[in-house]
Amino acid sequence: MEAWKALPGDGAYKILIIEDSPYDRALYRRLLHQSDASFSVYEAENLSDGIELSRRLKMDCILLDCRLPDAHGTDFLRLCRTEGFAPDAAIVMVSGQDNVQTAVDAMKLGALDFLIKNTAMERYFVQNIMNAIERASLKRRLRESQQELENSYKALTDFAHTASHDLQAPLRRVRQFCNLLKEETGDRLGPEGLDYVERLTTNVIRLQKLVEDLLTYSGAANGREGRAEIDLNVLVADVIEDVNVSVIENNARILLDELPTLSVYPVRMRGLFQNLICNALKYRSEEDPIIRIFYEEEPSRYVFSVKDNGIGIDEEYHHAIFTAFERLCSQDAVEGSGLGLSICKKVVEKHGGEIWVESSPGQGATFKFTIPK
Ligand code: ADP
Repeated sequence: MEAWKALPGDGAYKILIIEDSPYDRALYRRLLHQSDASFSVYEAENLSDGIELSRRLKMDCILLDCRLPDAHGTDFLRLCRTEGFAPDAAIVMVSGQDNVQTAVDAMKLGALDFLIKNTAMERYFVQNIMNAIERASLKRRLRESQQELENSYKALTDFAHTASHDLQAPLRRVRQFCNLLKEETGDRLGPEGLDYVERLTTNVIRLQKLVEDLLTYSGAANGREGRAEIDLNVLVADVIEDVNVSVIENNARILLDELPTLSVYPVRMRGLFQNLICNALKYRSEEDPIIRIFYEEEPSRYVFSVKDNGIGIDEEYHHAIFTAFERLCSQDAVEGSGLGLSICKKVVEKHGGEIWVESSPGQGATFKFTIPK
């Protein structure tokens, strides 16, 4: 069975022939009309008429001669790109000469096939046209699905942002009332009542942290922050200052190597280091935590490392931990929302890099991420 019979839609395919030779136009017309598929054929003798027609009508295929009286065929391809017309048409270039460079240029500019005018071409002419139409239709469907995916992803993060934003105010109020209840009526509540209020407060605080993390998560890839040249020594020193209480409580040591100055999204980058350092403190082992922060420069990228001597992570979970809400320990063992590393991943991806972990249980963990040059 011929391939084009399986194509969806039973209307005629609109095909535009841009060709100055009346002999070639007649030949293509004849070949198209002799085939089993149904075509509505339009013709243009030069580039400007071709542009005019393809702007007016949505073509399924454009058969484009390489040498036109007013331009080269590749000029048409360039215009399609820069001006965005005929985005869904399968453009097939036809040339009298077997010129590899022109064929490569045409394909790079978006042509879906390159045919050489000779007797062999006539045999597979319609088959080649139909294959190109099918490829163009697949490309269009792929583009549409990508767009749909992007739209739903954006809608989801917008929803997460709005929902978590709206949750903040009532949560703040619940926490205030918990405090009031304890302060104003604590003596009447008795030990059991006070214990309930304590537990209520702990859970509200957890919920507040979760909502805060959700807000950061939804903003990590889409926020409006711009890049700036940042001395990462200063940025990381600031983060260490912020987590100082936890450093002292854990009797931890942070060893900071000299870091470079790079163009980064400053707030996101700060959050990235903060998450990794806090995790290195949280998932500590019996030993006093030692955290080393360093980087290596490779030809095309910088590779940063945050290395700890904590409990480590089984290789089985090295990928899963970067997924939202994925945690390896219970809430009671170590507090957390399970969003930290997924935010880190988004931030690194926003910078065009990658993040991964090298670790095994009991051997500490080294979180590595790259920033392309
Ligand atoms: P959270 O810390 O809120 O649970 P994260 O997304 O930051 O969420 O981390 C996901 C999981 O990865 C953690 O629950 C923990 O099990 C594991 N993890 C993260 N960092 C480390 C680390 N430095 N050492 C060992 N395990 C870690």
